[in-house]
Amino acid sequence: MIAGGILLFSVVTFFMKGQTNPVTGKTQWVDMTVKEEIMMGLQGAPQMGAPSRDREAQAIVQQIGHRLVSSLNQHLQQRGINNPYQFDFTLLADRQTVNAFALPGGQVFLTEALYHQLDKEDQIAGVLGHEVGHVIERHGSERMAKGNLINGLVRAAGVAGGSPNGSGLASYVGNIAHMRYGRQDELESDRWGVLLMVLSRYDPHEMMAVMDVLEKSGAGGGKPEFLSSHPRPANRRQYIKEVIAQLPPGALEGSRN
Ligand SMILES: [Zn+2]
Repeated sequence: MIAGGILLFSVVTFFMKGQTNPVTGKTQWVDMTVKEEIMMGLQGAPQMGAPSRDREAQAIVQQIGHRLVSSLNQHLQQRGINNPYQFDFTLLADRQTVNAFALPGGQVFLTEALYHQLDKEDQIAGVLGHEVGHVIERHGSERMAKGNLINGLVRAAGVAGGSPNGSGLASYVGNIAHMRYGRQDELESDRWGVLLMVLSRYDPHEMMAVMDVLEKSGAGGGKPEFLSSHPRPANRRQYIKEVIAQLPPGALEGSRN
């Protein structure tokens, strides 16, 4: 009876979380408001690791990130949409883990290990633009909402088996760096990545070079964290090519390469 009640409660609360995404207009199942996402991201940011001490590289990452965001804001404003997120871009000192990720609410991170394998600003823009896409599409928050449902189900099973078991929201924040998104989420973010690159006059073809880097990082030594949390680059390459091919004529004029 108790287990059944908890189970029903989890399922009911999950389906009551429908919210309209303020940027895309899609209905999504998330259990945080945008304000809560932003607050959680700011609280979680210091736990993501030490920032790089390489000031020049840090400045480059921030400058590229802000260029993408200003293009994004302009693009949205032209459509009467207000971007509710304030993005911050941080280069992490981690030289071992090839990774990039974003917390819900707009805190975006890139490790030195990945940074040093990207040899053009356009490639950095591709990585950051992809992460901005995850934030706008609220993928992290969706995963977390699903996690709570799963948690409820686990808890219900636990009560039935005599060992109640639950975990808080905090543990999810810590796991976001290792979070595995669905294939659809990745492709959506790649689409944003390409769009933001084009709007900011970066060359979206450099996304292919990013895929090469990610593939190599998986083949070589080191910890290819990005590969455990993302689908194989080969699958994304084809999709990115299609997105670029669908760009309106002239979209790439004036891109810097
Ligand atoms: Zn991703």
